[in-house]
Amino acid sequence: MIPTKPHAALLASPGLGHLIPMVELANRLITHHDFHVTIFVVTMEPTASNKPIDLLPKQPYTSPTLYNLVVLPYVDSSAQMSPSDKIMTRLAIMMRGYVPSLRAELGSMKHNPTLLVVDLFGTEFLSLADEFDMVKYVYIPSNAWFLAMTICVPLLDKQAKHVGPLNIPGCKRVEYDDILDPIFDPENKDYDAYVRIALDLGTADGVLVNTWEHLESKTLFSLKNNKILREIFNKRVYPVGPLVRPVSLDYLGGELLEWLDDQPKESVLYVSFGSGGTLSSQQTTELAWGLEMSQQRFIWVLRPHIEHDGAGALFHAMDGQGQIISQYLPHGFLTRTHNLGKVIPMWAPQTEILAHKSIGGFLSHCGWNSTLESLVNGVPIIAWPLYAEQNMNAALVEEELGVVIRPKVLPTKGVLGREEIKKMIIKVMEDDDGIKMRVRAKEVQKYAKEAFTIEGSTLKSFSEIANTCENRLTDQRAKASIIN
Ligand code: UDP
Repeated sequence: MIPTKPHAALLASPGLGHLIPMVELANRLITHHDFHVTIFVVTMEPTASNKPIDLLPKQPYTSPTLYNLVVLPYVDSSAQMSPSDKIMTRLAIMMRGYVPSLRAELGSMKHNPTLLVVDLFGTEFLSLADEFDMVKYVYIPSNAWFLAMTICVPLLDKQAKHVGPLNIPGCKRVEYDDILDPIFDPENKDYDAYVRIALDLGTADGVLVNTWEHLESKTLFSLKNNKILREIFNKRVYPVGPLVRPVSLDYLGGELLEWLDDQPKESVLYVSFGSGGTLSSQQTTELAWGLEMSQQRFIWVLRPHIEHDGAGALFHAMDGQGQIISQYLPHGFLTRTHNLGKVIPMWAPQTEILAHKSIGGFLSHCGWNSTLESLVNGVPIIAWPLYAEQNMNAALVEEELGVVIRPKVLPTKGVLGREEIKKMIIKVMEDDDGIKMRVRAKEVQKYAKEAFTIEGSTLKSFSEIANTCENRLTDQRAKASIIN
Protein backbone atom coordinates (compact mmCIF):
# COMPACT_ATOMS: atom_id res chain seq x y z
CA MET A 1 0.00 0.00 0.00
CA ILE A 2 1.29 3.48 -0.84
CA PRO A 3 1.29 5.50 2.39
CA THR A 4 0.19 9.09 2.83
CA LYS A 5 3.47 10.03 4.49
CA PRO A 6 6.95 8.62 3.80
CA HIS A 7 8.05 5.46 5.55
CA ALA A 8 11.77 5.03 6.07
CA ALA A 9 13.73 1.84 6.65
CA LEU A 10 17.05 2.44 8.41
CA LEU A 11 19.59 -0.38 8.66
CA ALA A 12 22.17 -0.37 11.47
CA SER A 13 25.26 -2.58 11.45
CA PRO A 14 26.12 -4.38 14.68
CA GLY A 15 27.28 -2.30 17.61
CA LEU A 16 26.05 0.66 19.55
CA GLY A 17 28.43 2.96 17.67
CA HIS A 18 26.30 2.24 14.57
CA LEU A 19 22.90 2.04 16.20
CA ILE A 20 23.13 5.30 18.14
CA PRO A 21 23.60 7.57 15.07
CA MET A 22 20.77 5.79 13.26
CA VAL A 23 18.47 6.42 16.20
CA GLU A 24 19.30 10.12 16.09
CA LEU A 25 18.69 10.24 12.36
CA ALA A 26 15.37 8.48 12.90
CA ASN A 27 14.34 11.01 15.51
CA ARG A 28 15.02 13.91 13.18
CA LEU A 29 13.09 12.35 10.31
CA ILE A 30 10.16 11.72 12.63
CA THR A 31 10.02 14.92 14.59
CA HIS A 32 10.85 17.37 11.81
CA HIS A 33 9.45 15.67 8.75
CA ASP A 34 6.76 13.36 10.03
CA PHE A 35 8.28 10.16 8.65
CA HIS A 36 7.35 6.71 9.89
CA VAL A 37 10.63 5.00 10.70
CA THR A 38 11.65 1.40 11.25
CA ILE A 39 15.23 0.73 12.30
CA PHE A 40 16.46 -2.75 11.37
CA VAL A 41 19.33 -3.98 13.47
CA VAL A 42 21.87 -6.64 12.58
CA THR A 43 23.29 -8.60 15.48
CA MET A 44 26.60 -10.37 15.55
CA GLU A 45 25.78 -13.20 17.91
CA PRO A 46 23.09 -15.86 18.03
CA THR A 47 22.59 -15.14 21.70
CA ALA A 48 22.08 -11.40 21.22
CA SER A 49 18.85 -10.28 22.72
CA ASN A 50 15.95 -10.16 20.36
CA LYS A 51 14.27 -7.66 22.62
CA PRO A 52 15.14 -4.47 20.75
CA ILE A 53 15.21 -2.28 23.81
CA ASP A 54 18.02 -4.37 25.28
CA LEU A 55 20.22 -3.23 22.43
CA LEU A 56 20.11 0.33 23.62
CA PRO A 57 22.07 1.46 26.64
CA LYS A 58 20.16 1.64 29.86
CA GLN A 59 19.31 5.29 29.74
CA PRO A 60 16.32 7.21 28.51
CA TYR A 61 18.14 7.09 25.28
CA THR A 62 15.37 8.22 23.06
CA SER A 63 11.76 7.32 23.12
CA PRO A 64 11.69 3.91 21.44
CA THR A 65 7.98 4.41 20.92
CA LEU A 66 8.75 7.03 18.28
CA TYR A 67 10.16 4.46 15.88
CA ASN A 68 9.99 0.69 15.40
CA LEU A 69 13.12 -1.26 16.19
CA VAL A 70 13.32 -4.67 14.52
CA VAL A 71 16.16 -7.08 15.22
CA LEU A 72 16.81 -9.19 12.13
CA PRO A 73 16.94 -12.90 13.07
CA TYR A 74 20.53 -14.09 13.47
CA VAL A 75 22.16 -15.46 10.31
CA ASP A 76 25.23 -17.66 10.76
CA SER A 77 27.82 -16.78 8.08
CA SER A 78 30.79 -18.33 9.86
CA ALA A 79 31.18 -21.01 7.17
CA GLN A 80 31.99 -18.27 4.65
CA MET A 81 34.73 -16.77 6.82
CA SER A 82 38.32 -17.89 7.15
CA PRO A 83 40.25 -17.55 10.41
CA SER A 84 42.58 -14.98 8.80
CA ASP A 85 39.70 -12.65 7.88
CA LYS A 86 39.86 -9.32 9.69
CA ILE A 87 37.06 -7.26 11.14
CA MET A 88 35.90 -5.43 8.00
CA THR A 89 35.97 -8.57 5.88
CA ARG A 90 34.02 -10.46 8.53
CA LEU A 91 31.52 -7.67 8.85
CA ALA A 92 31.06 -7.55 5.07
CA ILE A 93 30.46 -11.32 4.85
CA MET A 94 28.10 -11.21 7.79
CA MET A 95 26.09 -8.26 6.47
CA ARG A 96 25.73 -9.97 3.07
CA GLY A 97 24.04 -12.87 4.85
CA TYR A 98 21.29 -10.54 6.05
CA VAL A 99 20.23 -9.23 2.63
CA PRO A 100 17.46 -11.86 2.22
CA SER A 101 16.13 -11.09 5.73
CA LEU A 102 15.85 -7.38 5.03
CA ARG A 103 14.25 -8.10 1.66
CA ALA A 104 11.63 -10.21 3.43
CA GLU A 105 11.05 -7.52 6.04
CA LEU A 106 10.65 -4.75 3.46
CA GLY A 107 8.28 -6.92 1.45
CA SER A 108 6.07 -7.54 4.45
CA MET A 109 5.77 -3.91 5.60
CA LYS A 110 2.18 -2.73 5.60
CA HIS A 111 3.10 0.50 3.85
CA ASN A 112 5.64 0.55 1.05
CA PRO A 113 8.78 2.13 2.44
CA THR A 114 9.98 5.16 0.48
CA LEU A 115 13.44 5.62 1.89
CA LEU A 116 16.26 3.19 2.65
CA VAL A 117 19.20 4.43 4.70
CA VAL A 118 22.12 2.12 5.41
CA ASP A 119 25.39 2.79 7.16
CA LEU A 120 28.88 2.32 5.75
CA PHE A 121 28.81 -1.44 6.24
CA GLY A 122 25.34 -1.83 4.78
CA THR A 123 26.08 -0.70 1.22
CA GLU A 124 25.32 -4.17 -0.17
CA PHE A 125 21.70 -3.62 0.83
CA LEU A 126 21.34 -0.65 -1.51
CA SER A 127 20.19 -2.88 -4.39
CA LEU A 128 17.09 -3.70 -2.32
CA ALA A 129 16.01 -0.09 -2.68
CA ASP A 130 15.77 -0.58 -6.44
CA GLU A 131 13.61 -3.68 -5.96
CA PHE A 132 11.21 -1.67 -3.78
CA ASP A 133 11.44 1.64 -5.65
CA MET A 134 12.94 3.46 -2.70
CA VAL A 135 15.18 6.50 -2.41
CA LYS A 136 18.54 5.17 -1.15
CA TYR A 137 21.11 6.91 0.99
CA VAL A 138 24.18 5.91 2.93
CA TYR A 139 24.53 7.57 6.30
CA ILE A 140 28.16 7.96 7.35
CA PRO A 141 28.07 9.01 10.98
CA SER A 142 31.48 10.57 10.48
CA ASN A 143 32.85 13.67 8.80
CA ALA A 144 33.05 14.77 5.16
CA TRP A 145 36.84 14.48 5.14
CA PHE A 146 36.51 10.78 5.94
CA LEU A 147 34.00 10.44 3.08
CA ALA A 148 36.39 12.24 0.70
CA MET A 149 39.20 9.90 1.68
CA THR A 150 37.00 6.84 1.29
CA ILE A 151 35.89 7.66 -2.25
CA CYS A 152 39.56 8.12 -3.26
CA VAL A 153 40.66 4.72 -2.01
CA PRO A 154 39.81 2.84 -5.24
CA LEU A 155 42.17 5.20 -7.08
CA LEU A 156 45.19 4.07 -5.09
CA ASP A 157 47.59 1.67 -6.65
CA LYS A 158 47.15 -1.47 -4.65
CA GLN A 159 50.50 -2.85 -5.70
CA ALA A 160 52.51 0.17 -4.59
CA LYS A 161 52.78 0.14 -0.84
CA HIS A 162 52.19 3.69 0.29
CA VAL A 163 54.56 5.39 2.65
CA GLY A 164 53.56 9.04 2.61
CA PRO A 165 50.54 11.19 3.30
CA LEU A 166 47.41 10.77 1.24
CA ASN A 167 46.50 13.72 -0.94
CA ILE A 168 42.79 14.13 -1.53
CA PRO A 169 41.87 16.51 -4.36
CA GLY A 170 40.63 19.82 -2.96
CA CYS A 171 40.83 18.62 0.64
CA LYS A 172 43.21 18.59 3.56
CA ARG A 173 45.74 15.79 3.12
CA VAL A 174 45.71 12.81 5.47
CA GLU A 175 49.02 12.32 7.25
CA TYR A 176 50.44 8.83 7.03
CA ASP A 177 50.00 8.03 10.73
CA ASP A 178 46.36 9.07 10.61
CA ILE A 179 45.36 6.82 7.72
CA LEU A 180 43.10 3.85 8.39
CA ASP A 181 45.08 0.64 8.81
CA PRO A 182 43.71 -1.38 5.88
CA ILE A 183 44.18 1.28 3.25
CA PHE A 184 47.89 1.13 2.70
CA ASP A 185 48.39 -2.51 3.30
CA PRO A 186 47.44 -4.54 0.25
CA GLU A 187 48.25 -7.71 2.20
CA ASN A 188 45.42 -6.81 4.53
CA LYS A 189 42.22 -8.46 3.33
CA ASP A 190 40.21 -5.57 4.72
CA TYR A 191 41.63 -3.47 1.90
CA ASP A 192 39.33 -5.20 -0.61
CA ALA A 193 36.32 -4.86 1.68
CA TYR A 194 37.01 -1.15 2.04
CA VAL A 195 37.43 -0.60 -1.71
CA ARG A 196 34.13 -2.38 -2.34
CA ILE A 197 32.37 -0.12 0.16
CA ALA A 198 33.94 2.94 -1.48
CA LEU A 199 32.67 1.88 -4.90
CA ASP A 200 29.23 1.01 -3.54
CA LEU A 201 28.83 4.57 -2.25
CA GLY A 202 28.49 5.68 -5.86
CA THR A 203 25.38 3.50 -6.26
CA ALA A 204 23.45 5.46 -3.62
CA ASP A 205 21.30 8.50 -4.44
CA GLY A 206 23.28 10.47 -1.91
CA VAL A 207 25.39 10.29 1.22
CA LEU A 208 24.45 11.78 4.57
CA VAL A 209 27.36 12.92 6.73
CA ASN A 210 27.32 13.92 10.39
CA THR A 211 28.91 17.30 9.86
CA TRP A 212 27.86 20.84 9.03
CA GLU A 213 28.88 23.57 6.64
CA HIS A 214 30.85 25.71 9.04
CA LEU A 215 32.92 22.79 10.33
CA GLU A 216 33.97 21.46 6.92
CA SER A 217 33.15 24.10 4.34
CA LYS A 218 36.24 23.41 2.21
CA THR A 219 35.73 19.65 2.06
CA LEU A 220 32.00 19.96 1.41
CA PHE A 221 32.72 22.46 -1.35
CA SER A 222 35.26 20.09 -2.95
CA LEU A 223 32.89 17.14 -2.75
CA LYS A 224 30.43 19.25 -4.70
CA ASN A 225 32.73 21.04 -7.12
CA ASN A 226 36.20 19.54 -7.40
CA LYS A 227 36.54 18.12 -10.90
CA ILE A 228 38.61 15.08 -9.95
CA LEU A 229 36.42 14.19 -6.97
CA ARG A 230 33.25 14.62 -9.06
CA GLU A 231 34.62 12.26 -11.69
CA ILE A 232 34.86 9.47 -9.15
CA PHE A 233 31.83 10.40 -7.06
CA ASN A 234 29.03 12.56 -8.43
CA LYS A 235 26.36 12.08 -5.80
CA ARG A 236 24.82 14.61 -3.44
CA VAL A 237 26.42 14.91 -0.03
CA TYR A 238 24.05 16.06 2.71
CA PRO A 239 25.57 17.49 5.88
CA VAL A 240 23.05 16.51 8.57
CA GLY A 241 25.01 17.23 11.71
CA PRO A 242 25.80 17.64 14.39
CA LEU A 243 23.35 14.85 15.19
CA VAL A 244 23.86 13.98 18.83
CA ARG A 245 21.59 12.55 21.45
CA PRO A 246 19.59 15.25 23.22
CA VAL A 247 20.39 15.72 26.86
CA SER A 248 18.06 14.47 29.54
CA LEU A 249 19.52 15.81 32.79
CA ASP A 250 17.26 13.55 34.88
CA TYR A 251 19.33 10.64 33.73
CA LEU A 252 22.45 11.87 35.48
CA GLY A 253 20.92 10.41 38.61
CA GLY A 254 20.87 12.07 42.01
CA GLU A 255 24.36 11.20 43.20
CA LEU A 256 26.32 12.03 40.07
CA LEU A 257 24.33 15.21 39.44
CA GLU A 258 24.82 16.34 43.03
CA TRP A 259 28.54 15.67 42.80
CA LEU A 260 28.83 17.57 39.51
CA ASP A 261 26.74 20.43 40.89
CA ASP A 262 29.20 20.71 43.79
CA GLN A 263 32.27 21.08 41.55
CA PRO A 264 33.52 24.47 40.32
CA LYS A 265 32.60 25.51 36.80
CA GLU A 266 34.63 23.78 34.06
CA SER A 267 36.85 22.00 36.59
CA VAL A 268 36.13 18.32 35.80
CA LEU A 269 37.81 16.19 33.15
CA TYR A 270 35.58 13.50 31.65
CA VAL A 271 37.48 10.37 30.52
CA SER A 272 35.87 7.84 28.21
CA PHE A 273 36.79 5.69 25.22
CA GLY A 274 33.46 5.30 23.46
CA SER A 275 31.03 2.43 23.39
CA GLY A 276 33.66 -0.29 23.22
CA GLY A 277 37.14 1.15 23.64
CA THR A 278 39.40 -0.48 26.20
CA LEU A 279 43.00 0.00 27.25
CA SER A 280 45.69 -2.49 28.20
CA SER A 281 46.26 -2.90 31.90
CA GLN A 282 49.66 -1.18 31.62
CA GLN A 283 48.01 1.78 29.88
CA THR A 284 45.20 1.87 32.44
CA THR A 285 47.78 2.05 35.21
CA GLU A 286 49.60 4.92 33.50
CA LEU A 287 46.33 6.77 32.94
CA ALA A 288 45.35 6.33 36.58
CA TRP A 289 48.69 7.73 37.71
CA GLY A 290 48.49 10.57 35.20
CA LEU A 291 45.06 11.52 36.51
CA GLU A 292 46.13 11.32 40.12
CA MET A 293 49.36 13.25 39.58
CA SER A 294 47.48 16.02 37.73
CA GLN A 295 45.31 16.55 40.82
CA GLN A 296 42.42 17.55 38.57
CA ARG A 297 38.84 16.53 39.19
CA PHE A 298 37.63 13.74 36.94
CA ILE A 299 34.93 11.28 35.92
CA TRP A 300 36.41 8.14 34.37
CA VAL A 301 34.35 5.48 32.59
CA LEU A 302 36.33 2.32 33.25
CA ARG A 303 36.17 -0.92 31.25
CA PRO A 304 37.86 -4.30 31.65
CA HIS A 305 41.22 -4.49 29.92
CA ILE A 306 41.71 -5.90 26.49
CA GLU A 307 44.35 -8.23 27.87
CA HIS A 308 44.74 -9.33 31.42
CA ASP A 309 48.49 -9.26 31.65
CA GLY A 310 48.71 -8.96 35.36
CA ALA A 311 50.39 -5.55 35.34
CA GLY A 312 49.03 -3.20 37.96
CA ALA A 313 47.59 -4.15 41.27
CA LEU A 314 44.46 -6.23 41.10
CA PHE A 315 41.66 -5.50 43.43
CA HIS A 316 37.94 -5.03 43.42
CA ALA A 317 36.74 -1.67 44.56
CA MET A 318 33.21 -1.11 45.69
CA ASP A 319 31.01 1.87 45.13
CA GLY A 320 28.33 3.13 47.50
CA GLN A 321 25.90 0.44 46.37
CA GLY A 322 28.45 -2.28 46.92
CA GLN A 323 28.91 -3.04 43.23
CA ILE A 324 32.24 -3.71 41.60
CA ILE A 325 33.39 -0.50 39.93
CA SER A 326 36.94 -1.29 38.93
CA GLN A 327 39.11 -4.27 38.36
CA TYR A 328 42.68 -3.20 37.75
CA LEU A 329 43.84 0.12 39.16
CA PRO A 330 47.00 1.08 40.99
CA HIS A 331 46.73 0.04 44.61
CA GLY A 332 44.97 2.68 46.70
CA PHE A 333 43.98 4.80 43.68
CA LEU A 334 40.31 5.04 44.60
CA THR A 335 41.05 5.95 48.17
CA ARG A 336 43.62 8.58 47.27
CA THR A 337 41.41 10.15 44.61
CA HIS A 338 38.22 9.86 46.61
CA ASN A 339 37.75 13.62 46.83
CA LEU A 340 38.95 14.29 43.30
CA GLY A 341 36.91 12.09 41.07
CA LYS A 342 34.48 9.34 40.23
CA VAL A 343 35.17 6.05 38.49
CA ILE A 344 32.10 4.74 36.70
CA PRO A 345 32.08 1.14 35.46
CA MET A 346 31.37 0.35 31.83
CA TRP A 347 28.86 3.00 30.76
CA ALA A 348 28.00 6.57 31.74
CA PRO A 349 25.38 9.06 30.56
CA GLN A 350 27.93 10.80 28.38
CA THR A 351 25.92 13.51 26.70
CA GLU A 352 24.47 14.56 30.05
CA ILE A 353 27.90 14.66 31.67
CA LEU A 354 29.41 16.68 28.82
CA ALA A 355 26.55 19.16 28.99
CA HIS A 356 27.11 19.86 32.68
CA LYS A 357 28.68 23.22 33.51
CA SER A 358 31.36 21.57 35.71
CA ILE A 359 32.94 19.76 32.77
CA GLY A 360 36.02 21.55 31.44
CA GLY A 361 37.71 18.89 29.31
CA PHE A 362 37.19 15.50 27.68
CA LEU A 363 39.88 12.85 27.38
CA SER A 364 38.39 10.96 24.46
CA HIS A 365 39.16 8.25 21.93
CA CYS A 366 37.73 10.72 19.37
CA GLY A 367 35.02 8.51 17.96
CA TRP A 368 33.01 10.94 15.86
CA ASN A 369 29.94 10.86 18.11
CA SER A 370 32.03 11.62 21.17
CA THR A 371 33.88 14.36 19.31
CA LEU A 372 30.62 16.02 18.27
CA GLU A 373 29.15 15.67 21.74
CA SER A 374 32.16 17.54 23.05
CA LEU A 375 31.95 20.25 20.38
CA VAL A 376 28.24 20.93 20.85
CA ASN A 377 28.94 21.50 24.53
CA GLY A 378 31.99 23.68 23.97
CA VAL A 379 34.34 21.25 25.71
CA PRO A 380 38.01 20.94 24.55
CA ILE A 381 39.46 17.48 23.98
CA ILE A 382 42.57 15.51 24.86
CA ALA A 383 42.77 13.05 21.98
CA TRP A 384 43.44 9.40 22.65
CA PRO A 385 42.54 7.68 19.37
CA LEU A 386 42.36 3.89 19.47
CA TYR A 387 41.10 2.51 16.17
CA ALA A 388 39.10 3.14 12.97
CA GLU A 389 39.11 6.76 11.74
CA GLN A 390 39.71 8.22 15.20
CA ASN A 391 43.18 9.58 14.32
CA MET A 392 41.64 11.49 11.44
CA ASN A 393 38.90 12.86 13.67
CA ALA A 394 41.49 14.10 16.14
CA ALA A 395 43.56 15.66 13.35
CA LEU A 396 40.53 17.38 11.84
CA VAL A 397 39.38 18.95 15.06
CA GLU A 398 42.91 19.88 16.09
CA GLU A 399 43.90 21.53 12.83
CA GLU A 400 40.60 23.08 11.78
CA LEU A 401 39.29 24.17 15.16
CA GLY A 402 42.23 24.17 17.56
CA VAL A 403 40.22 22.60 20.35
CA VAL A 404 42.18 19.35 20.67
CA ILE A 405 45.61 18.42 21.95
CA ARG A 406 47.19 15.20 20.78
CA PRO A 407 49.89 13.16 22.52
CA LYS A 408 53.41 13.00 21.04
CA VAL A 409 53.17 9.25 20.46
CA LEU A 410 49.97 7.82 19.04
CA PRO A 411 48.28 5.70 21.71
CA THR A 412 47.97 2.96 19.07
CA LYS A 413 51.74 2.87 18.63
CA GLY A 414 52.92 2.78 22.22
CA VAL A 415 52.06 3.25 25.87
CA LEU A 416 51.52 6.84 26.97
CA GLY A 417 53.44 7.52 30.14
CA ARG A 418 51.97 9.08 33.27
CA GLU A 419 54.12 12.24 33.01
CA GLU A 420 52.87 13.08 29.54
CA ILE A 421 49.29 12.30 30.54
CA LYS A 422 49.60 14.55 33.57
CA LYS A 423 51.02 17.38 31.45
CA MET A 424 48.25 17.11 28.85
CA ILE A 425 45.57 17.14 31.53
CA ILE A 426 47.01 20.18 33.27
CA LYS A 427 47.45 21.96 29.94
CA VAL A 428 43.78 21.58 29.04
CA MET A 429 42.31 22.04 32.50
CA GLU A 430 44.49 24.80 33.95
CA ASP A 431 46.94 26.45 31.56
CA ASP A 432 46.35 29.50 29.39
CA ASP A 433 46.36 27.18 26.37
CA GLY A 434 43.43 25.33 27.87
CA ILE A 435 41.54 28.55 28.54
CA LYS A 436 42.05 29.61 24.91
CA MET A 437 40.91 26.20 23.71
CA ARG A 438 37.76 26.51 25.81
CA VAL A 439 37.00 29.91 24.30
CA ARG A 440 37.39 28.46 20.80
CA ALA A 441 35.28 25.45 21.76
CA LYS A 442 32.46 27.81 22.82
CA GLU A 443 32.63 29.47 19.38
CA VAL A 444 32.35 26.08 17.70
CA GLN A 445 29.35 25.35 19.92
CA LYS A 446 27.69 28.52 18.58
CA TYR A 447 28.34 27.56 14.95
CA ALA A 448 27.05 24.04 15.60
CA LYS A 449 23.73 25.53 16.75
CA GLU A 450 23.52 27.65 13.62
CA ALA A 451 23.44 24.51 11.45
CA PHE A 452 19.92 23.95 12.77
CA THR A 453 18.61 27.40 11.96
CA ILE A 454 16.42 27.89 8.92
CA GLU A 455 19.40 28.98 6.81
CA GLY A 456 21.66 26.34 8.36
CA SER A 457 23.15 23.50 6.32
CA THR A 458 21.49 20.76 8.35
CA LEU A 459 17.91 21.96 8.14
CA LYS A 460 18.40 22.52 4.42
CA SER A 461 19.67 18.95 3.99
CA PHE A 462 16.73 17.47 5.88
CA SER A 463 14.26 19.51 3.85
CA GLU A 464 15.82 18.29 0.60
CA ILE A 465 15.76 14.68 1.78
CA ALA A 466 12.10 15.03 2.78
CA ASN A 467 11.24 16.68 -0.55
CA THR A 468 12.96 13.91 -2.50
CA CYS A 469 10.93 11.32 -0.63
CA GLU A 470 7.69 13.28 -1.07
CA ASN A 471 8.36 13.48 -4.81
CA ARG A 472 8.97 9.74 -4.94
CA LEU A 473 5.67 9.15 -3.16
CA THR A 474 3.87 11.45 -5.60
CA ASP A 475 5.36 9.50 -8.54
CA GLN A 476 4.33 6.22 -6.98
CA ARG A 477 0.79 7.46 -6.44
CA ALA A 478 0.63 8.65 -10.06
CA LYS A 479 1.86 5.26 -11.30
CA ALA A 480 -0.61 3.43 -9.06
CA SER A 481 -3.53 5.53 -10.31
CA ILE A 482 -2.61 4.71 -13.94
CA ILE A 483 -2.43 0.98 -13.16
CA ASN A 484 -5.76 1.07 -11.34
N1 UDP B 1 28.55 6.53 25.14
C1 UDP B 1 27.82 6.77 26.30
N2 UDP B 1 28.34 6.35 27.47
C2 UDP B 1 29.54 5.70 27.58
C3 UDP B 1 30.27 5.47 26.39
C4 UDP B 1 29.77 5.90 25.20
O1 UDP B 1 26.72 7.35 26.26
O2 UDP B 1 29.94 5.35 28.67
C5 UDP B 1 28.00 6.98 23.86
C6 UDP B 1 28.61 8.30 23.47
O3 UDP B 1 27.86 9.36 24.05
C7 UDP B 1 28.53 8.23 21.95
C8 UDP B 1 28.68 6.76 21.64
O4 UDP B 1 28.37 6.07 22.85
O5 UDP B 1 27.27 8.69 21.51
C9 UDP B 1 30.06 6.37 21.18
O6 UDP B 1 30.23 6.71 19.84
P1 UDP B 1 31.62 7.18 19.27
O7 UDP B 1 31.42 7.47 17.82
O8 UDP B 1 32.17 8.28 20.06
O9 UDP B 1 32.59 5.97 19.48
P2 UDP B 1 32.48 4.41 19.13
O10 UDP B 1 31.75 3.79 20.25
O11 UDP B 1 31.78 4.27 17.81
O12 UDP B 1 33.92 4.01 19.10
